Amino acid sequence: MDRQKQLADLHAQLQLLGEQFAKRLEEELPQLADRAQQLQRSTDPAEQIECLQDLREQLHKLAGSAGTFGFKDLGHQARLLEQQSQQWLSSLELQRKGLDSFIDQLQILAGTSDLSAMATPAPASVALPRNSASQEDSRLIYILEDEENVGESIRRTLSTFGYQARHFICSRELDEAIAQQSPDALIVDVNLGNDRQSGLEYAASLLAHLPQMPPLLVLTTQDDFATQLQAARLGAVGFFSKPVDVAKLESRLEQCFAQQGGTPYRVLIVDDDYELASHYRLVLGSANMLAEVVSEPSRLFEAIAQFSPEVLLLDVNMPGCSGTELAQMIRFHDDWIRMPIIYLSAETDIGLQMNALLKAGDDFITKPISDKSLITTVFARAQRARLLSNALSRDSLTGLLKHADIKEQVAVEQERALRTGKPASVVMLDIDHFKKVNDSYGHAVGDNVIRALANLLRQRLRRVDGIGRYGGEEFLAVLPECSAAQAVQILDEIRQQFSGIAFSSEVGDFSVSLSAGVASCAELEGTALIDAADKALYAAKHSGRNKVCVAEI
Ligand code: GH3
Ligand code: MG
Ligand code: MG
Repeated sequence: MDRQKQLADLHAQLQLLGEQFAKRLEEELPQLADRAQQLQRSTDPAEQIECLQDLREQLHKLAGSAGTFGFKDLGHQARLLEQQSQQWLSSLELQRKGLDSFIDQLQILAGTSDLSAMATPAPASVALPRNSASQEDSRLIYILEDEENVGESIRRTLSTFGYQARHFICSRELDEAIAQQSPDALIVDVNLGNDRQSGLEYAASLLAHLPQMPPLLVLTTQDDFATQLQAARLGAVGFFSKPVDVAKLESRLEQCFAQQGGTPYRVLIVDDDYELASHYRLVLGSANMLAEVVSEPSRLFEAIAQFSPEVLLLDVNMPGCSGTELAQMIRFHDDWIRMPIIYLSAETDIGLQMNALLKAGDDFITKPISDKSLITTVFARAQRARLLSNALSRDSLTGLLKHADIKEQVAVEQERALRTGKPASVVMLDIDHFKKVNDSYGHAVGDNVIRALANLLRQRLRRVDGIGRYGGEEFLAVLPECSAAQAVQILDEIRQQFSGIAFSSEVGDFSVSLSAGVASCAELEGTALIDAADKALYAAKHSGRNKVCVAEI
């Protein structure tokens, strides 16, 4: 679907929700009027209080939702009346005079007959982020570094990691290359020796004339505040002191590309107001986020387990239980500790907001909220949450899953295999004679070998496959819906490719091999399958290494 059609579709859906909301108003406003009349007639204080509580609740809901569907004045008036009803309730001094005028105003509000004339539906002026076509295989990286050996070493290491890297000694050379083809990322050194400008000045000039500036990473020997500030002002996404840890540099590059073309953020909306929640869902969906709605609080845990949201938007006032109570219950579960909880509520009382936050939850957004603010707030939260979650579950050297997380994924896939009868394969890999690599070329070079294998596995395996760093130079992978024979074939290709990589070191080039064990059986449990793969790996090591063996189950 092209953008134009997408926008038109979105518009139509938002319009439909708006119409549904207006219909609901046609039912709800007379109910308000009835309540107001009941309040007027009543002489029983208990009944009056009940009426007022009911009115306050309805007005609260209206205040939070009407603005979103274009009924700004209605929402505003509802808010004022809600506050009044609150005052009436808290003082409990139901003086007839003031109450009469309150009732009159309520009746005027409820008597609004021409709803369509009142509404000024907000145009769906939401920005659709570009779906940057991912070219994960051959990211083009330009390096501007006047020191020949430094630039060359970075270029070589990045090439090992599968990037298409080019090194330039001076800005003039780089200018010519950029004129031909814009890179996917740019790495610049701050001090360019004899160049007429610094690397940051050069980046500033690019920023001024390029239609789109590629992500910028800065290398420097001066990591003082002023230089960092200058880099931040240019929108740099990385800042590295020399001597540069290229593994960290590459890790930042990958993070940055993952953010550009990554999978959509998953957002779960909990709100008993179905139209409002659906409106939020559409708005977030229009900004390339995946949103789902739960309108029945008791279904929340099931939805979290299934959908695995990265951000939770939680209404506060709901029938049955409050958002704050739900948030407290969510925090009982360690598994969901990484998920930020944002209250999205019509509650404007700062004291009550603070109370909710003290109990549980991370932030408070007040309804009504504009579509743009909603998108920005949720996007920023989700982005940060994913970054932190990755940092927690990913191994820092390779970016692969950590020991516990990959074991967990094996268990999940094996349960799926049991259900579907489509077996998954588990693979245990280990680098051969890795101790010798460290001893001969140093630990840093050893680290590069580990990262290169991680990168190769990422490139060769599918998106649905789970890959983890099981131990030092040992890797565990799970390949859903993949027979042992298919897994052996893929792994053998990876084995050959890996042994063909020429690693460079100060004492010359060298190559490394790996051994792997494969196990697949729909009937076994996850841990048993890992054990079987481990035994197969042991067999591969004992029959001469540089081999892939399959488990006998
Ligand atoms: P084999 O072929 O039998 O697997 O022999 P090996 O030398 O690869 O196996 P061994 O388990 O004896 O040695 C693994 C070495 O890997 C020991 C450890 O110092 C090294 N190692 C573990 N983690 C890291 C790491 O993060 N970086 C580097 N550079 N080395 C590591
Ligand atoms: Mg320099
Ligand atoms: Mg080893």
